[in-house]
Amino acid sequence: MSEITEKQNPPANNNIMDIINTGCYVAGNKIESEKILEVRSPYDNRLVGTVALANATHAEQAIETALKGGQKLTRYDRFSILDKARQLLIERRDEFAKIISAESGLAIREAIYETGRVHDVLMFAAMESLKDDGQIFSCDISPQGKARKIFTTRESLSLALCITPFNHPLNQVAHKIAPAIAVGTPVILKPSEKTPLTAIKFTELLYDAGLPHYMLSTLLGPTNEIAEPLVKDPRVEIVSFTGSVAVGKRISSVVGYKKVILELGGNDPIIILEDADMDMAVHLAAEGSYRNSGQRCTAVKRILVHEKIIEAFTAKFVQKSKSYICGDPSDAATVVGTVIDEASAIYLETVVNKAVEQGAKILLGGKRTGALMEPTVIGNVPRNADMVMKESFGPLAPILGFKDIDDAIALSNSTVYGLSSGIITNNMQHAIRFIKELKVGTVNINEVPGYRIESSPFGGIKDSGLGVKEGVIEAMKCFTFVKTFSMPW
Ligand code: NAP
Repeated sequence: MSEITEKQNPPANNNIMDIINTGCYVAGNKIESEKILEVRSPYDNRLVGTVALANATHAEQAIETALKGGQKLTRYDRFSILDKARQLLIERRDEFAKIISAESGLAIREAIYETGRVHDVLMFAAMESLKDDGQIFSCDISPQGKARKIFTTRESLSLALCITPFNHPLNQVAHKIAPAIAVGTPVILKPSEKTPLTAIKFTELLYDAGLPHYMLSTLLGPTNEIAEPLVKDPRVEIVSFTGSVAVGKRISSVVGYKKVILELGGNDPIIILEDADMDMAVHLAAEGSYRNSGQRCTAVKRILVHEKIIEAFTAKFVQKSKSYICGDPSDAATVVGTVIDEASAIYLETVVNKAVEQGAKILLGGKRTGALMEPTVIGNVPRNADMVMKESFGPLAPILGFKDIDDAIALSNSTVYGLSSGIITNNMQHAIRFIKELKVGTVNINEVPGYRIESSPFGGIKDSGLGVKEGVIEAMKCFTFVKTFSMPW
């Protein structure tokens, strides 16, 4: 959570961690500026850090330095930088976890988990950077053919703009920058203003790992001076954006003639069939709903349960939900921290109240204190409630019944989103129907919608994205273009 103020003396330390007074980076140079972003804890509003913000001149310098370039990185150089970054992250894990938790309000255990994911991102990017990415096509394979071969090679792009959201402050940033480094494409990063400190610390870690400075600038500042002009700038060859549908659509309307990746919101269902293993269903529905304070694009946002088992499921699910203790994010016993700010928590409270007016029933939770929203189970939720038609980014667990598989598929496909899904069943034929008929980017059988490894393809369709996948391997492809050459052979 953050707000912009004029410069003032750095405040005194607090008892959680030292206040971080830092600034944006233009190619390794830390910016000094009169415009300061204050970053406060969503939990208790204490000052966590300050960031000196960039302006339009800094954005221009970042473009020019990236395009001027510098030491050209071999595959081995890229591997070494990414692997060194991985090692440094292990050493700095606790520091990163504290910063993530302090500025985002995520429980410290979630923040530690996130550093583990980023370890994997760096490891896979390092591994992939060593692999050859070319193909060979023999041309004498048809009556029209002749004795030639066509070869492909991937070349890095001249400049990528990567824009990231608040909800996984480190992992979202790593998923953009690590694949770009793996293929040698320079990046200007525009992280979320709500969680800037983690992104800046990660920038410093990459410089410490030996990343040449022209390869990365990290800028925060007014949208009309930084994000929007960079999105439109013809010298930027690719815009890779993760965030809300509204901002994603705005970007697509102004981006012009360049590559664009849009990874947007979600409204993922977990669908529990009559034959499901009940304990597994309860466990996965709870994990999917509450982990990361419910602030994952792939969080479970609708629990769809077969009518014949909905009563038994709901009773067990309410019991299970009681174990998701919510409170002080820095406490190791806390499972669910705050959402990103009080305004977001108020929105969640409003959609719950609105659903109740439409006939829904709060079965557990429902209370809000500042930015802290209790894990909340809601039954009898109407199919047209905002809570299930729109994305509610928080620890809400709306339960809806369905009568058969046709009904479940229709209900699941009934929103504008198409990111991911989880199906709980022991029946292979049923599983196959969902895999074939759900209009989503991912179908996970007997897993949460969010299940993935960091190198597997990931991304949604419909309003959740353009169907261009990320994940380390696919993102590496995005940050390059394919050149073909042919020779008599
Ligand atoms: P957001 O409000 O869309 O912000 C995302 C980023 O866009 C921030 O860095 C923001 O900067 C920037 N931005 C704002 N206006 C812009 C503009 N006009 N042009 C260019 N950039 C602009 O999203 P959020 O609230 O941080 O993140 C939550 C959303 O992200 C949820 O909808 C979630 O589902 C989605 N998400 C999707 C995925 C996926 O892979 N599909 C993954 C994670 C999250 P400021 O901070 O300065 O406003």
